[in-house]
Amino acid sequence: MVFLAVRRAKALQITLAIIKPDAVAHPLISEAIHQKILDQQFIVVRSKELIWRRDDSERFYAEHKGRFFYQRLVEFMSSGPMRAYILARENAISHWRELMGPTKTYRARYLSPESIRGKYGLTDTRNTTHGSDSLDSAEREIAFFFPEFNKKCWYEMDEPLIRAGYYSYS
Ligand code: ADP
Repeated sequence: MVFLAVRRAKALQITLAIIKPDAVAHPLISEAIHQKILDQQFIVVRSKELIWRRDDSERFYAEHKGRFFYQRLVEFMSSGPMRAYILARENAISHWRELMGPTKTYRARYLSPESIRGKYGLTDTRNTTHGSDSLDSAEREIAFFFPEFNKKCWYEMDEPLIRAGYYSYS
């Protein structure tokens, strides 16, 4: 039993996903994105709705400081509620990024029209969603949003709840 749990936990990867303020402002769009998460067999390990202060936004996007869109991005991300998720499944990081589609909305529309950004993105900044792009960024970003989350033993602790169907997992 323990062996099985360890094997399953190894196959699962976790990532940080955000439904950004532009999408949360439209309940039908945020609901469609949430449904996509469930349809794609992600386990919703943790989720919360929150509003950033400007300095949260500045810290999270510090790597983009100095770029022409930085001020716009920081203002947008602190402009209203967003929804943050820890999502788990095999290849969660790359799978979520593939579902989101390219960063820039016009590219997403033409190259990946069925992607989330292709369908719902408004502009290059207001592009509906965020997803970690590597194991390191997933770890850092999960800690940013969910500092109490224990990445080492979350599966062992949460498994009974997952098995009982307590978590969203279609
Ligand atoms: P991604 O979110 O796809 O990982 P980046 O990390 O490069 O992309 O950028 C972070 C966010 O900054 C993007 O999701 C988008 O909101 C904004 N952004 C990136 N590039 C541009 C751009 N050229 N013009 C406007 N906003 C941008």
